Amino acid sequence: MSDLISQDPSAIAQARAEAVEKWLRPEIRALQAYHVPPAEGLIKLDAMENPHAWPPALRQEWAQLLSEVDVNRYPSAGAEKVKAALAEAMAIPAEHGILLGNGSDEIIQLLAMAVAAPGRSILAPEPAFVMYKMIATYVGMDYVGVPLDSDFDLDLDATLAAIKQHQPALIFLALPNNPTGNLFSPAKLEAVIEAAEGLVVLDEAYTAFTEADHLDYLARYSNVLVMRTVSKIGLAGLRLGLLVGATAWLNEFEKLRLPYNINVLTQLSASFALKHYDVLLAQTADIRAQRQALAKALAAMPGVEQWPSEANFILMRCADARQVHQAMCDAGVLVKCLDGAHPSLANCLRLTVGSAAENEAMLAALSAALDLDKA
Ligand SMILES: *Cc1c(COP(=O)(O)O)cnc(C)c1O
Repeated sequence: MSDLISQDPSAIAQARAEAVEKWLRPEIRALQAYHVPPAEGLIKLDAMENPHAWPPALRQEWAQLLSEVDVNRYPSAGAEKVKAALAEAMAIPAEHGILLGNGSDEIIQLLAMAVAAPGRSILAPEPAFVMYKMIATYVGMDYVGVPLDSDFDLDLDATLAAIKQHQPALIFLALPNNPTGNLFSPAKLEAVIEAAEGLVVLDEAYTAFTEADHLDYLARYSNVLVMRTVSKIGLAGLRLGLLVGATAWLNEFEKLRLPYNINVLTQLSASFALKHYDVLLAQTADIRAQRQALAKALAAMPGVEQWPSEANFILMRCADARQVHQAMCDAGVLVKCLDGAHPSLANCLRLTVGSAAENEAMLAALSAALDLDKA
């Protein structure tokens, strides 16, 4: 092409812009890339990470194992050791299959790719985890968001009507839900599953912070799968998620999984960490205790409304969330501002539960910001 032969940089830039516009799908060009705000130097309480480090002896042992990895070789394709370690740590009964993803985000993508076809839709209650909608767009599917009720529980009538109207190929229900933190009432959940003809994926990303467990739904319903991740348990950096359920489903999805999607370092590190699951469980138990302390402190703050949480974050509302968010940032504490993300999240912040010291700093910054807010 003559544009490429030309040495004129502005002509090449122009031709490139035209090609981007011509060849990239309009819905992709209209997307905003998933935004990760810079967090350097800040107390990071915006992404539901576990704040606790591993004990030094464990880090040493891990570093030794890593030094012996053959990075010149491809990883184990089936990652059977990782699956066995996950099954044992999470008490997943042997009759269920497990599929691994590079984070559960990749599993959401894989599920969507498997069902994508023109006119087909993905349904989720809203507000929900943003990747459900983004990935529907990635694969060219319609997305149906059904508003939750005023308690952030499923709006059963609206959900059943939407299922009837759209016949979604895929429904995502996060239990507990992100960013609201609550579980849905079991009777409504079951009514939705029974009404759905397509797949229903129960996203248990926050399983470590709740007593609720839906693995028993796998035997009761032909169209249910359970998705989990090690991210919120303390291994977010590894990128490892799992889908649990009948092999009649999973064997099909396996065909779409890219070979070697779980790299050698992740495989080794996850197997090692899961052998020391007691350390992670002690950390998540601390986070649960801190959640209670944080809720109590928030309850004593005038001008703060909060919702009960079964996860490692608390959703709260104040008079001017954007101003409070900025003031907290300026004070060195990063939380998530959800104002504008959904009508029901107006003036809401999502606070990740951190260590006792981090939460103390967060509460001090919040309290100072709320005072500014009033002034
Ligand atoms: C964080 C989160 C995930 C993504 O987890 P990764 O395994 O880190 O990709 C999935 N679902 C929900 C509801 C989440 O909040």
